[in-house]
Amino acid sequence: MNILSKEIIEIKGIGEETALSLNELGIYTIVQLLEYFPYRYEDYRICNLGDIKHDERITVEGKVHSEPSLTFYGRKKSRLLIRVFVNQLLISVVFFNQPYLKKQITIGDTVTITGKWDQHRQTITGNVLKKGSVIRKQQFEPVYSVRGKITVKGMQRLLSLGLHQYGEYIDDPLPSSILKRYKLLSKKEAIFQIHCPTSPEHLKQARRRLVYEEFLLFQLKMQALRKFEREQSGGVAHEFSIGTVNQFINSLPFPLTNAQKRVVDEILNDLSSPYRMNRLLQGDVGSGKTVVAAIALYASKCAGFQGALMVPTEILAEQHAASLSSILEPQKIKTALLTSSVKGKKRQEILEQLKNGQIDILIGTHALIQDEVNFNKLGLVITDEQHRFGVEQRRILREKGESPDVLFMTATPIPRTLAITVFGDMDVSVIDEMPAGRKQIETYWVKDKMLDRVLKFVSKEIAKGRQAYVICPLIEESEKLDVQNAIDVHSVLNQYFPKEIKVGLMHGRLHATEKEDVMKKFSNNEYQILVSTTVVEVGVNVPNATVMVIYDAERFGLSQLHQLRGRVGRGSDQSYCILIANPKSDVGKERMTIMTETNDGFELSQKDLELRGPGDFFGKKQSGLPQFKVADMVHDFKVLEVARNDAAKLISSTAFWKSDDFHMLLSFLEGTGILNGEKLD
Ligand code: ADP
Ligand code: MG
Repeated sequence: MNILSKEIIEIKGIGEETALSLNELGIYTIVQLLEYFPYRYEDYRICNLGDIKHDERITVEGKVHSEPSLTFYGRKKSRLLIRVFVNQLLISVVFFNQPYLKKQITIGDTVTITGKWDQHRQTITGNVLKKGSVIRKQQFEPVYSVRGKITVKGMQRLLSLGLHQYGEYIDDPLPSSILKRYKLLSKKEAIFQIHCPTSPEHLKQARRRLVYEEFLLFQLKMQALRKFEREQSGGVAHEFSIGTVNQFINSLPFPLTNAQKRVVDEILNDLSSPYRMNRLLQGDVGSGKTVVAAIALYASKCAGFQGALMVPTEILAEQHAASLSSILEPQKIKTALLTSSVKGKKRQEILEQLKNGQIDILIGTHALIQDEVNFNKLGLVITDEQHRFGVEQRRILREKGESPDVLFMTATPIPRTLAITVFGDMDVSVIDEMPAGRKQIETYWVKDKMLDRVLKFVSKEIAKGRQAYVICPLIEESEKLDVQNAIDVHSVLNQYFPKEIKVGLMHGRLHATEKEDVMKKFSNNEYQILVSTTVVEVGVNVPNATVMVIYDAERFGLSQLHQLRGRVGRGSDQSYCILIANPKSDVGKERMTIMTETNDGFELSQKDLELRGPGDFFGKKQSGLPQFKVADMVHDFKVLEVARNDAAKLISSTAFWKSDDFHMLLSFLEGTGILNGEKLD
């Protein structure tokens, strides 16, 4: 056993009580302690006020210019103000709730202050005050996330114990060839430097080294899993005549875009290979994924297999069933729709025909994965909007056949960074081109005092025979409040518009059948306006709707706004998206402006990721994002790319698998638990 895997209690100076407190932070072993990295540093370098940005934390040295003044408010609250000369500049320093500092300060004293700089008020909100000129040996002090009995200072001490007693045993999992190639610090040096940096440059190098390692190991894991999956899971080699498939493609009412041709090639290749396809197909709303799915299903059928298409909602299932059958039935391919509304005799008939192979392609919702559904010979499974399905549901569906090929489609453009990490074990195809002749949706951003004009505009479109969506304010993590909002907006609009204009209401608390009913009425223009929460986001197709109004648009993610916007612009008429928002922050304003400037989902998703970070990207409910200790998927993107290529090279070289490097890495991966119980062989 590696000496670093021993329990923390082995460290001299750590007793049982401390060990228990460390356990609460998830630290059980010595290596876990050594890799408990600071999340930021207190910067004690003396800085020049001219170089400091607003809101930054700083340390300055200066001379006290006036008698400190202390004000109390409330029982325990106080504010201490001093005026200090820092390099010719007279600034204010305030300390909250540290009244005792008053006695320590006299006019003329030299003091060193650490705190947060308010550029506009020329004020530091101080945390630390030191008398005299303090030149510290250690300019950066690590700050750890701590809880319970352990303080930041305590943590610093524990780490220093750990590093001194066990630091020398830190091994390097990276091959020396890689260290040389990128001039990376050794692991040992990097760990020492990340806890006690001796200079900003050292800190930077320590981070760089640890980020690379995290990404490389992660990529190796993902890619190794994919390699084993491909080679060992078995799969269906679809045998079809490419000529026949091309004939089918030529029979379509429109030529494929170049992007569609490319992804069709990628998918057909996967289908005919003996490996199991595990592919993600990304394409913006309206980029034409359905027809790509149809071609794949057609090829699978030509090879004598059945296919399945699973979608998250009944409405979507019906729409897909209609469009697929219109393309495929003329080719003598039998499609069927299975949802929970298909009942009784009809249902039995479908199940029967599926089992005996009379039905070639089954389209449906979750109903597809129920026990009673049995295929005769399932060769291809496609899911649309796959992020709505859990991993488990996808597995059940896949197991309805013998290792069928699997294609996941999504209209949420996922930035490359995330695609590489989250879907690292899948192949990715992208449709990055729209069919020719699409009208751009005109997007406007208005403040809420313009609401009346917006509604007048809606009336005008309705007078032309068009329809509108009104999406209600989003209240994070409270479906109940979202629903209330929708109900409120619905009743306001009902009063605002004359009786002839019918306003429908849609939200997550409605029963599935009620939702279907509302959607159908909107689809048939029995409702001219549909007030809705974001449940309407996915794939719904009402070509006659030309206006999308979104209340409190600043609360939505850019990708989500883009999805919502994609509900209009589906017919031949010019469509509009109106964002009502009063964002307060600059970022908020920037986000609204970007929406008005681009219709490109990928560009938006990248921006969204940069502005909001990966955690928020998929929304609160999505987990499954890898947790890195040091690395940041957005800012360290370049390193991620490099690590990914390096991992690919390592994985594809036979020499690597036989080498000591590989075994070292493997044992390391197992040691860190990064493999999460998944086996490499
Ligand atoms: P999505 O990717 O959002 O699922 P769809 O597959 O629903 O997009 O396609 C949107 C519309 O574009 C459909 O009406 C479809 O028939 C049409 N379409 C798809 N591909 C092309 C193409 N190459 N040329 C013209 N129209 C196309
Ligand atoms: Mg679609």
